[in-house]
Amino acid sequence: MDTIPTAKSRAILFDMVRCTGCRGCINACLKTHDFKGEAKDTTELSATAYTAMRTEGEFNVRQMCRHCVTPSCASVCPVGALHKTDLGPVVYDESKCIGCRYCMVACPFNVPRYEWNSPVPAVRKCDMCIDRLKEGKPTACAEACRFGATVCGTREELVAEARKRIAEDPDMYYDHIYGEKELGGTNVMFITPQPIESLGYKAKLGETPLPNLTWNVLEKLPGVVVVGGAALSAFWWITNRRDEVSAAHAAAKHDATNGGTHKASGENDHDRA
Ligand code: SF4
Ligand code: SF4
Ligand code: SF4
Repeated sequence: MDTIPTAKSRAILFDMVRCTGCRGCINACLKTHDFKGEAKDTTELSATAYTAMRTEGEFNVRQMCRHCVTPSCASVCPVGALHKTDLGPVVYDESKCIGCRYCMVACPFNVPRYEWNSPVPAVRKCDMCIDRLKEGKPTACAEACRFGATVCGTREELVAEARKRIAEDPDMYYDHIYGEKELGGTNVMFITPQPIESLGYKAKLGETPLPNLTWNVLEKLPGVVVVGGAALSAFWWITNRRDEVSAAHAAAKHDATNGGTHKASGENDHDRA
């Protein structure tokens, strides 16, 4: 599996040393997506919270999709509902999704959430504000941050910026850019005051992209059984899923025409990212 070059792709740097915990980033994300939650209560990711913040001692620990350079969520999706864009974000196409939720199992950062209470549930996660990026704008969370703690730029620029901040203030920063190399690199990177594992983030992930490891294992399995079984299941799921999505969209349209409401998302998300 090839790794996509990312030097010029867009990225986000979260600087925990500069973060004041004001939650402007979370508020901006909630508003951008028209989600109802309160930023102060958004401590865990959910189908209606694409970024969250909890406190770990005196520090503010922000969570969101890392937009992996070689995303395992996309690699396990049997129908290509998730894919890495050249611009940087890993995006999701609801119309292709068959609801198998392999992506949720495969994500090493426990990011994707599912609309458990929706009649036609979809997977939800941060899309890195791809529509804004396409217009040349920063992500909504970066634009909202007044402290330079969440910044948006090319991956190349942000790696350089992170190195500069660490070099200029070595007493404040732990000397590591989390996401520069982990699992082949991510487009969301963190710099922190102390080792990442002491702040509740997953550490010691290695530098090999997980999809590479997955494919190495799959190559050793009897292909006919795996591929044949998956293809049959996928065919069944796709047929049913498309019918469900069409019916839900028709119902939503009908509700809108008649002034009613159509609930599109639910909450039952309890796993920490
Ligand atoms: S807006 Fe900036 S300073 Fe405020 S919580 Fe978010 S990252 Fe931290
Ligand atoms: S963090 Fe998880 S959901 Fe986001 S791109 Fe990586 S594997 Fe996919
Ligand atoms: S990049 Fe956009 S979708 Fe992702 S956390 Fe920031 S504001 Fe939310």
